[in-house]
Amino acid sequence: EIVVLRLGHRPERDKRITTHVGLTARALGANGMLLASDDQKIASNIEEMASRFGGDFFVKNNVSMTKEIRKWKEAGGKVCHLSMYGINLPDAVPELKRQNKLMLIVGAEKVPGEVYELADWNVAVGNQPHSEVAALAIAMDRIAEKDSLTTVFDNAELTVVPTAKGKNVIHDNELKEKKEKKQKKKSEEKKD
Ligand code: SAM
Repeated sequence: EIVVLRLGHRPERDKRITTHVGLTARALGANGMLLASDDQKIASNIEEMASRFGGDFFVKNNVSMTKEIRKWKEAGGKVCHLSMYGINLPDAVPELKRQNKLMLIVGAEKVPGEVYELADWNVAVGNQPHSEVAALAIAMDRIAEKDSLTTVFDNAELTVVPTAKGKNVIHDNELKEKKEKKQKKKSEEKKD
């Protein structure tokens, strides 16, 4: 089980990058993303997109960073903070691979010092500055047990068929309608 904790999202400027963190996490095998800022719109957008392409990736909006880390640890999980200042990923991979409940933390601007203390590991994806999306992708790829690039997501309305030229996408319209009906029912129940 892998969850990604996204820190420091600023709704006015990090929309694309946070969306990319969520979609990359999902594509490479994470179960969900915790967003330590309040941006319900972006959380819903990621979930909606994730649902269309299958699987059951979740996004939890506006979490408390310290509460989530504490809860995760109490449940037996380990925490790995991705930071260019940490120990280099190749040295951490054997230990990270052994974990079956792992939280990966990525930041935006400056990450609070507390995170470095709370993490079981502060891990650098090379000790050069780059991007949370790149750091997450490389880390997840290196610690994966099986090749996540060939994963087939179940319950997909949209399935991309690899093709040398152009685009080949299978649309499951029946499933799409089913999901839309379910969604409608849910929001009507909420209103009552
Ligand atoms: N300057 C900020 C700081 O010192 O905390 C970090 C800014 S960086 C654009 C945003 C996030 O990308 C970081 O919080 C970290 O999670 C990730 N990141 C960037 N470079 C990294 C690296 N070399 N290794 C691991 N994570 C990295």
